[in-house]
Amino acid sequence: MSKRRIGIVGAMPEEINGIVSLLEDKKEIIKGMRAYYVGTINNIEVVVVFSRWGKVASATTVTHLIIEFGITELIFTGVAGAINQDLNVGDIVIATSLVQHDLDARPIMKRFEIPLLGVTELFAPKGILDSTVEKISQLVANRDLIDSLSPQQSELFSLANQKVVVGQIASGDQFFSSNLEKENLLVVLPEVLCVEMEGAAVAQVCFEYDIPYVVIRTISDAANENSVVDFNEFVSQVASKFGLEIIQKLVKL
Ligand code: SAH
Repeated sequence: MSKRRIGIVGAMPEEINGIVSLLEDKKEIIKGMRAYYVGTINNIEVVVVFSRWGKVASATTVTHLIIEFGITELIFTGVAGAINQDLNVGDIVIATSLVQHDLDARPIMKRFEIPLLGVTELFAPKGILDSTVEKISQLVANRDLIDSLSPQQSELFSLANQKVVVGQIASGDQFFSSNLEKENLLVVLPEVLCVEMEGAAVAQVCFEYDIPYVVIRTISDAANENSVVDFNEFVSQVASKFGLEIIQKLVKL
């Protein structure tokens, strides 16, 4: 079996900067407009990279990690817009399945069907999913994420009742910023918890190369008319701190 090497991909440069600060024996390798940081966290080999945004960018980044860096598993973290109405800013969603909501090759295939794979959603591998859910649930139960913020920040974003939810995530090359977009999505994909722009693409690459993966998203906005303002505030003040805490907890022997 090849040596364990975890790929850590973030969809926000702010998050990646925090995670990179954890690296020992850090080396930076620039390729294809991306900076890959190789090193160790808690004596485990890791490669950390900002995916850039959207399905093509993130799929390319992950393919590069698999082929050039020989990663044996992948953790993807980022922020997302809430679709399910029980989700609040600061909640953590871990994907049990991922669907590309903008993939539509009808009439030659079913809506959302991934060409040649013959499925409309990909289910996250169970081992890495279960251990991630357990560890992140501990972080939230212990209030470790909230405590990494100042009391003012936690109050500003109303983070007091943070929760972890597992379920379906939808990805596509679209930033959701209206209730109408949300409603339309729920008509066709009623199980979706949140939307983002990378996860399902990353899942497809990992599935095809047989690499265990997990996609973790913190809710940054309600995917409605306020999403741009909420999103920017959240990313600059909160996402980087959460990303660092999450990775510190997950990357352990
Ligand atoms: N800040 C960048 C744009 C980031 S794109 C800029 O201004 O140029 C948005 C990122 O946040 C993507 O990684 C996407 O996965 C996630 N995201 C957060 N909220 C979202 C929403 N409401 N709709 C779609 N993606 C969202």
